[in-house]
Amino acid sequence: MFSFKLVQKGLEEEKEYDLVIIGAGPAGLVAGIYGGRSGLKVAILDGGLSGGQLLTADIIENWPGEKAIKATELAKKFKDHASQYADIYELTQVTDIERDNNKFIIETSSGKFKAKAIIFATGSKRRKLNVSGEDKLSGKGVSYCAVCDGPFFKGKSVAVIGGGNTAVSDAIYLKSIGVDVIIIHRRKEFRADKVLVERALSMGIQIKVPYVVEEILGEDKVEGIKIRNRETNDVEYLKVDGVFIAIGMVPNTELARKLGAETDQNGFIIVDRHMRTNIHFVYAAGDVTGGVLQIIVAAAEGAIAALSAHEDLSKISH
Ligand code: NAP
Repeated sequence: MFSFKLVQKGLEEEKEYDLVIIGAGPAGLVAGIYGGRSGLKVAILDGGLSGGQLLTADIIENWPGEKAIKATELAKKFKDHASQYADIYELTQVTDIERDNNKFIIETSSGKFKAKAIIFATGSKRRKLNVSGEDKLSGKGVSYCAVCDGPFFKGKSVAVIGGGNTAVSDAIYLKSIGVDVIIIHRRKEFRADKVLVERALSMGIQIKVPYVVEEILGEDKVEGIKIRNRETNDVEYLKVDGVFIAIGMVPNTELARKLGAETDQNGFIIVDRHMRTNIHFVYAAGDVTGGVLQIIVAAAEGAIAALSAHEDLSKISH
């Protein structure tokens, strides 16, 4: 009933499961723990590596029991724990899902899986700014991941765009590794936790409000940004070597919507308090359901979704 190993791509022949979880971030990994412990045969599939957004974060200071832990270390702990109860398939991109009588057929880059129930724990990706120069200079100074790309900017200057926890955390991380940072935010008030904004200020991070970015300048690499003051309408040009965009998240719902899952006006999968979607035996958990995008919430939703799947599956015989 239980699997005790991390499955390497393509090594396992039996790909029929009670529960397939799509996404190996905190929601998916915790769903794996709860699903496996409740007696279900569980697979967790992820197109990348396990950890979800933890792989793009620096230090986590709000996971209970850990005053400050490297996000990648927390991700590893989750993965090690989940691999005791679920088969984890990394680098396994789900390309299509179809319903076949009482089963779901899940096509992936590592072959076909069958499942009686599915949990979408597909998370979210960074929202784009949609200004001139952004696409052209993406990867050439425009970045959506401070932890991934920050080290390239040591000794250089960058602008971080946004006023939420991600923007301010990114700015703090960049400053801590020797990058000269300015935060550009469109309002005078920050969504970010006060403790983070105060830390940023105490580290000497400049903050420019209320400004919007109108253009990212440069031909082959970022050379600066054009910003406009929203109160005075004054335009300024800032010379920077990089632009880190952190203006919120967009849920990854393509597969769920194709299967028929309903989403709300912001694109998040609609679930009830048991994390059930509008489709029988399909659940969603974590950032993809919206609300408070926190690791602890994703983890809790993953647990609820798995327990609901177990409850529903135990009522029927497929
Ligand atoms: P967020 O909280 O939604 O903040 C997005 C920020 O970007 C807001 O300040 C928003 O401005 C700004 N923004 C949105 N669209 C914009 C646009 N087109 N142009 C310019 N600015 C724009 O998103 P987030 O910071 O990515 O955080 C997402 C969730 O993850 C939140 O729940 C957050 O608390 C959580 N998170 C937590 C931590 C932590 O606990 N340490 C770390 C990272 C993320 P307005 O304020 O004017 O709307």
